[in-house]
Amino acid sequence: MATLGNPTNTIAILQKYNFNFQKKFGQNFLIDANILENIIIAADVKKEDCVLEIGPGIGTMTQYLCENAREVVAVEIDKKLIPILQEDTLSSYNNVSIINKDILKVDINAIVQEKNGGKPIKVVANLPYYITTPIIMGLFENHVPLESITIMVQKEVAQRMQVSPGTKDYGALSLAVQFYAEPKIMMSVPASCFMPRPNVDSAVIKLTRYEKPPVQVKDEKLMFDIIRAAFNQRRKTLVNSLSNAAALNLNKQAIVVALEAMGMPATVRGEALSLAQFAKLADFVKN
Ligand code: SAM
Repeated sequence: MATLGNPTNTIAILQKYNFNFQKKFGQNFLIDANILENIIIAADVKKEDCVLEIGPGIGTMTQYLCENAREVVAVEIDKKLIPILQEDTLSSYNNVSIINKDILKVDINAIVQEKNGGKPIKVVANLPYYITTPIIMGLFENHVPLESITIMVQKEVAQRMQVSPGTKDYGALSLAVQFYAEPKIMMSVPASCFMPRPNVDSAVIKLTRYEKPPVQVKDEKLMFDIIRAAFNQRRKTLVNSLSNAAALNLNKQAIVVALEAMGMPATVRGEALSLAQFAKLADFVKN
């Protein structure tokens, strides 16, 4: 079994199996041992942990996870990678399950139940960038029992998750992530650490799940409908973007009244509101 996390052994495996990278699956494999060790430290992977890895690729990070965790579940969409994982790179580990499926179609709650008795797991992944947001939102909205999510993502996306109101990167993703978890960018990762090199810079972000959301809201779904509508037309005032959203069925006057009651001008834009203010606005609308 080859130890991965360096260019030589990665190339050897790719050649042995005549593997061609699939762009559509966002395949950029890590080839830097230092970054891999730092991801394990950032994720705080311990011997008692059950870890879900999304997209193991040829099993590079999976080897590090198997060495450090009790149990690893790795979900990989590309069937061409499965023999590499099973017969080669992960063959000497007995604490890993390899599932050949699309992560967006997997019942993760059932995996957590089976592998960890329903207790919170850690998610650690070098994500396929084309589906970063649906993966994260799926984990949160399906209420998967989670301690933390430590993931490699595109640098701008990591920044979007962490920013506060009033900045250009602030949006629906920032608010959704910050409702469920405390985000912290752990490290920047240059394109040279991957094979093939991506065209974007990357960063590892850790989302530590809150036991209880930092704000109270009567109707979570309504709040997120309002947030989505607010940022769908982010150059417009909140009054205009919310009244244009058919799904919300709100008239301008009602929104102006709610904003006034919250001490905000009718000209305010969604990007100026904090999570707490969106929660308050949703409660006004609900009433
Ligand atoms: N973990 C490996 C590493 O760090 O070298 C590979 C990371 S690569 C950025 C993303 C991986 O996710 C690829 O192996 C790709 O085939 C896989 N992938 C892409 N879409 C997926 C999906 N919908 N479900 C599961 N895996 C997926």
